[in-house]
This record gives sequence, C-alpha cells and structure tokens, in this order.
Amino acid sequence: MATTSNTTLKVGRTNLALTVFVPVDCKNNCPFCTSKKNYTTHKPDGKAMTAAIQGLMDTAAFAFPDVVITGGEPFANTGLLKDLIDFLNEAVPFKNLYINTTLPQSSIKDAVALINSHDRITGVNVSRHIKTFYYDPVAEKEALFSINKPLHINCVLDGTETKDDILDHYTNYSPFGQVVFRADYTTMNQGELHSMLNPTFLLLDELFGYDYSTQCHVCHTDHFHKHVIYHRGVEHSSIQLRDYKEVNDVVLLQDGSLMLDWDPATSKFASGTDYTIEYPANYEIEAFRGKKIPFKFDAAVNQKTTSKKRKTKHQSTCTGACSSCTQNCPLAGTGYRNAPVVGGSCGVGVSGGSGGCGASSIDDGMDHFMGGC
Ligand code: SF4
Repeated sequence: MATTSNTTLKVGRTNLALTVFVPVDCKNNCPFCTSKKNYTTHKPDGKAMTAAIQGLMDTAAFAFPDVVITGGEPFANTGLLKDLIDFLNEAVPFKNLYINTTLPQSSIKDAVALINSHDRITGVNVSRHIKTFYYDPVAEKEALFSINKPLHINCVLDGTETKDDILDHYTNYSPFGQVVFRADYTTMNQGELHSMLNPTFLLLDELFGYDYSTQCHVCHTDHFHKHVIYHRGVEHSSIQLRDYKEVNDVVLLQDGSLMLDWDPATSKFASGTDYTIEYPANYEIEAFRGKKIPFKFDAAVNQKTTSKKRKTKHQSTCTGACSSCTQNCPLAGTGYRNAPVVGGSCGVGVSGGSGGCGASSIDDGMDHFMGGC
C-alpha cells in the first residue's frame, strides 16, 4: 500500500511568485545559467502547462501576488509570450507580472510594443552584465528608453570586477531603472555567498553605502543607497532548513512539471506527499497571512487530468460583495484583479463553473501554445 509523507513548505517571501518557464530556449550559454540544462531535458508541452496551473489553482492552497515569466528567452517568440500572459491572466489571480529577458535585438520592436501595450505586464528584468556572454545580439541600451514600464537591470558579478567596472555599469544603466547585482554562484564559494563580508559586498559598500539586508535564507539580499541591490543567492529558489523547506517560488516548467526550485534537478513536488503550506504573518494577501493550508499534490494532479474544461467567467475584480455567495473564496474582496467570482448568484461571476477557489477559465486559446519551438 502506498504510504504518504508530509512535508512543510514555509513561504519565505511575503510575495510568493509563480515562476513560469516559456517553452522556448534562448540562444545564449551563460556560465551561471540555472535553466540551460532544463531545456534539453524537459520537452515543451503547453497542454501539460495549462493543466498543471488548473490543478494548482483548484486546490486553493496557493495565492500568488507575483507571476514571473522566465526562460529561455520569453521574447524569442513574442506572439507565444502574449498568449501565455493572456492565459495566466485568466487562470491565476495575481497583482504583478514580471518578465526576465535579455531583450534580443532581433525582436526588440515587438518586445517594446508588447511591454508597453499589455496592461498586465508590471515590469521587466533585463539582463545586462559587465562581462558579456551573449551570442544572440541584445538590443542597444538606448532601446530601453522606449519602454514605459519599470525596469530592473540585472548584472551578475563574478567577484573579479573592479570598482571602476561596477561604477561604470551603474552609471550606464541606472538612468533606465533599478540596478540589481547578483553574485555568480559558480565563482564564489558558499562561505562568500552566505557572508556579507565577501569582496564584492565590500566594494558595493564603498561605492554606494550599505543600507540593510533582508532576512531571507534563499535570496540573501543586501540593499545599498541609490537603490542598488545585491543578491547573494542565485542558484536556488528554495532551501531545506531543519524539518521544513523554505520556498520563494513555485516553478512551472515548460513540460508542465511543478517544482519547488528553479533547478529541476533539485526539488520537485513529489507524488505520495501531502504538503502543508505555511504563509508568513506579514504575507501580502491578508486572507493567507499566518495560515497553514494543506496541499495534496496527487489530488491536484488527479484533478487536472480528470476535470473538464470549464467556461468560468470572472468579474475583473471580485468585490466580495455578493451576499448570496457561499464559497468563502479566500481572495474575495481582496481587490485582486481576476480573483475568481465563485458560486454566487450575481449572474456576473459564474457561468457553468463548478465553484471553488481558483476555478478558472481554461479555454482552447492555448492550443497553439503547445511546443512549436
Ligand atoms: S540568457 Fe538567461 S536563459 Fe539564456 S543562457 Fe543566459 S542566463 Fe540562461
């Protein structure tokens, strides 16, 4: 008889992110890349991705303030990216959506047009490193002026950069957005990564002046003046601590696999395991603050493979004001755009849906989102 084990997942951030890998690899080969191997071992499957999201949201165990679309290269296929964003907008209640990209020169016009016109894109994380690894030419930095959404400029530091290197980079890119430096985990040892007193931290302190650090065990994020950030934990998005795992991202791979870390080799949701998701007391979504919510992975997988497609319509924002609603949706009335309106009889929210938090419209629009890359 199959045995079931229990695992506690503690949400490390106040804004747990659903991180979604696009089904298109990039043309680069950065030495610190955490996802390159992933694209050779996990075949894109858009149907499996949509089913996994449906199963995940139907359990009502997760609520994501943020969605992050990563790769691969999201702008390698801008039409596909738009479809993915539109699908997520229907399926997942979230507040912010960010895109990680190198902004390839070959698609810069389409990329800028989509970023500027799609109201669900909150901001863009653009990779621009001091040592360049790009084989696929990236857009000139002047193109960044055309983007009307907030930008983070990500720059990986391997510890060999001089003060001038860092200052030049900051001067070049700070006019476009917040400069975020990241430690190269391939060139720094664990001691350096976990200690504030590593040489790069000391350089940044000298240049910008240290302000404060977050307590996150995964990110090890240091804040400096002039809005400069230094992350000392790029390799993983979760960490095992004593008898629980601290998670910062729920990761959806391009083949529909749900992971607890963006390195597929490290940690995935396991069959035969019941999880308890523990949310911090200061979680962004009030309804989930301090809550311990059970999540049965096998039930979610089973649900996603057996549930029928539903045509549930959403109010753009559930106000929680339907007096007849009996579903006690945890996101009702939180102001979350596309928070599902479930079970009530207002006539606006539900059309043929089965009720239940997260019941989302999974329509046929994603069929051309399958593979194809
Ligand atoms: S551009 Fe991004 S996805 Fe591509 S190899 Fe570099 S780090 Fe990896």
